[in-house]
Amino acid sequence: MHQPDEKYAWPTCTACGRDLWEAEAGRLACRPCETRTGERLGELATLFRQINTSAALMRGARRGGAPTSGSRTPPIPPRLEVLSLAAHGGVATRLRDIEDAWRGALGWTIAPWRGSPGQAVPEHLRFLTNNLPWACDAYDSVGQDVEEIRRLHAECKQALSHDRKPGRVNVGHCPVEIGGDVCGAQLTASTATSRIRCQACGAQWDDMWGWRELRKAQETVSVGERTAA
Ligand SMILES: [Zn+2]
Ligand SMILES: [Zn+2]
Repeated sequence: MHQPDEKYAWPTCTACGRDLWEAEAGRLACRPCETRTGERLGELATLFRQINTSAALMRGARRGGAPTSGSRTPPIPPRLEVLSLAAHGGVATRLRDIEDAWRGALGWTIAPWRGSPGQAVPEHLRFLTNNLPWACDAYDSVGQDVEEIRRLHAECKQALSHDRKPGRVNVGHCPVEIGGDVCGAQLTASTATSRIRCQACGAQWDDMWGWRELRKAQETVSVGERTAA
């Protein structure tokens, strides 16, 4: 659609404010903004997985931190930014708000509740990635959403960068029995992976279920030791 006065008010990107190229005429956000936002949505998938893993370790530490075995299972220090980004109201809710607004503008039905943040975030990201070209082309409020995605991406990176400083955190001793003896090697966890692996005996725990098993085994071992002593 060409309007006669277009050359007098040269259109600009509603996200970054730069003049649009002729090839971008009619768009609401420029191509570089679309590209960068698409990359951020892609990276958010990985960032959120790490946030979710860290939060689970923090919660696990709090829940499993039985008073008597406190010294055996050093707590992973809970960090508010990580916990709040992982919780309802965090990344999942903020992405859902954008998705709902886009669906509203497209005249589509609002998607039903999608489970935990860990289940919902990949779906929101898929929706937003698929519909980003439309939004940059035709969605009036795309500028503020491009900015919100940039902010969310930055907050996740920031929250995780604190975690990386201490590197790995101690999560207690290896409870695996080998020939009647407990391995007992110091176990560590890192936010970069959800796997906890014993460097001494090679036992490994891969995910949240695994960590629960690990906590249970650690507590059983420490109870056993106390009874024997
Ligand atoms: Zn732009
Ligand atoms: Zn071991």
